[in-house]
Amino acid sequence: MTFRGRHLLGIEQLAPDEIRALLDVAEDYAAFNRQPMRRRDTLAGMTVITLFYEPSTRTQASFELAGKRLGADVMTMAVAVSSVKKGETLIDTALTLNAMRPDLIIVRHPASGAVNLLASKVDCAVVNAGDGRHEHPTQALLDALTIRRRKGRLHRLTVAICGDIAHSRVARSNILLLGKLENRIRLVGPPTLIPAGARELGCEVAHDMAEGLADADVVMMLRLQKERMDGAFIPSEREYYHRYGLDAAKLAHARPDAIVMHPGPMNRGVEIDGTLADDINRSVIQDQVEMGVAVRMAALDLLARNLRAARAGAAGAAHA
Ligand code: ASP
Repeated sequence: MTFRGRHLLGIEQLAPDEIRALLDVAEDYAAFNRQPMRRRDTLAGMTVITLFYEPSTRTQASFELAGKRLGADVMTMAVAVSSVKKGETLIDTALTLNAMRPDLIIVRHPASGAVNLLASKVDCAVVNAGDGRHEHPTQALLDALTIRRRKGRLHRLTVAICGDIAHSRVARSNILLLGKLENRIRLVGPPTLIPAGARELGCEVAHDMAEGLADADVVMMLRLQKERMDGAFIPSEREYYHRYGLDAAKLAHARPDAIVMHPGPMNRGVEIDGTLADDINRSVIQDQVEMGVAVRMAALDLLARNLRAARAGAAGAAHA
């Protein structure tokens, strides 16, 4: 087993063999999840807490399902009705939960770096479910699994990541993962939404969809993250759709067998045409959701194995 991490905080810390190991385990869970009986005892007796300081549908639901399918006790913290509303800090909340001896905490927080800080304060394994504009590792892993299953490989592909890259942790984690596995990455969007330093990350940059999508194997669309914009980054949504919204005409610039991805939630008619998003011959958006459960089961399984090994090692040392 080559996945070595104690926590899953970002793609940045993972080596290519760890990424492949996690995807291989996730592949087995993808098959398992299609069986009628979807319950194992892998995490029996373990406690998983999900703590989300930002709204979530797919990520929160799939972590909860992943934990339950592996037999863990899963507790979902309702942040909106907890002491967080009384002003308790993230670290105080984390220390309180830590004292209840959970095995894994899954955290989403609006501040970049908050989850790494939390991981340094608790005894359990921590999974980053999205921190600010920083990382969303399980999203990049589920995207990678979806691509690998559809394209038959995860290297030497041309991947166009389009739209609001500057505010996107999904883009950042995907750039890191696809770069580690030697893919060609093109960032496509208006100059205001492409982060400075994109070229230093090894990415090509295009401000025009025809140029950016040329010969792409994968077209990954991103949501316009209006909640992270504090000024006018685009002239209007209509103008944005006209120039950067993905429709059949723009997709014709990519390879004929190119797949279309979107992490959700989608703004139909803003960054993507609704009919194209629903076209099962091109869009793999539902596959991404399905692979999300499998990847999160793999992540919980591998982290639990490492946690058990570390605890066994510590108990052995105490006896010695
Ligand atoms: N659901 C993803 C995230 O949490 C993408 C998005 O919100 O646009 O980052």
